[in-house]
Amino acid sequence: MRVSPYSGYSNAPSGLSRQKPARNPAPKFGWGWDSHNAIEAASIHWLPDSSFKGFLQRHLPEINRVSIRQDTEHEGPQHYLNLEDTAQPPISKEEAHDFNRVRQQFSPQNQAAQRQQFRQSPLSAERLAKFTNVFQVTTQLYDGLVGLLKQASIAPWLPPASKAQLGGQITETVGALSHYAADLNQPLHTTRHSTWQTALAKPNEQGSHHFMEVILFTKSENRNLGNNLAKLHYQPTYLPPLGLKQRLLQQIQNAYLQVFNLAQGDAQGRNSPSTYFASLKQAWQPIATQQTVASACTVSDILHSAYEEAGRPDLSQL
Ligand SMILES: [Zn+2]
Repeated sequence: MRVSPYSGYSNAPSGLSRQKPARNPAPKFGWGWDSHNAIEAASIHWLPDSSFKGFLQRHLPEINRVSIRQDTEHEGPQHYLNLEDTAQPPISKEEAHDFNRVRQQFSPQNQAAQRQQFRQSPLSAERLAKFTNVFQVTTQLYDGLVGLLKQASIAPWLPPASKAQLGGQITETVGALSHYAADLNQPLHTTRHSTWQTALAKPNEQGSHHFMEVILFTKSENRNLGNNLAKLHYQPTYLPPLGLKQRLLQQIQNAYLQVFNLAQGDAQGRNSPSTYFASLKQAWQPIATQQTVASACTVSDILHSAYEEAGRPDLSQL
């Protein structure tokens, strides 16, 4: 059923009806920059070591800026992972954007089959090492961070200029690493069907992806999400390099399985055009919230693990 553009908005619950997307809005809500920055703040807040935590908190504004710069200056394959490309023949852009194709691929039956397939043959680092993707970039940045933190152990004996340079490199790496470790939890980053036409999208406008990253949460809903994230008490786990890779692969699998829930929520919403917008929000918000929390935990684990791996250098001088 084809729903006229934005028809859902007029019947959306009060407060939502004015949430028409602006022409070229900056991505902020749902999985946009505000979410990235909230994830960085929470993941750093949970770190147990005061020296590392203190350093990162002193440099949080810069970490936030570097993280956002990944989207404005370095957009490209390192932000995503089209899982379909690792196993099946490529899907054309037209097919990927077609909701009927999405509905077919992400049916409940296929979800059960996919879960089973992940159980029997989990994603492997080897399989993903063959092309540039968010997993590869995240693990490379992690290795880079461990190297920089190891250098920091001699920080007290470095001249001021070298200290500043090293501090800057650590900040840059943490900003980028936090961004990509979060991105691999965004379900629509894990599939070739990264953008499909929603019943709300105007022709030529980014559909589902735009909805998730820009429209899904209002400004105040997004602020609440950030506040709630900050209130969680998460204890980051140290994972040795191989265990960390396994953890990231697991996160990608989980995110991919969420695409099925997004598609099924969308299909259900299309049955009733007048409430489509509200029903899409209702189906997608818990998924986006869960993935945001998963991202913050992942980022915290990575930062904590890198610091432990580097031998817990004293960063108070940087
Ligand atoms: Zn990104």
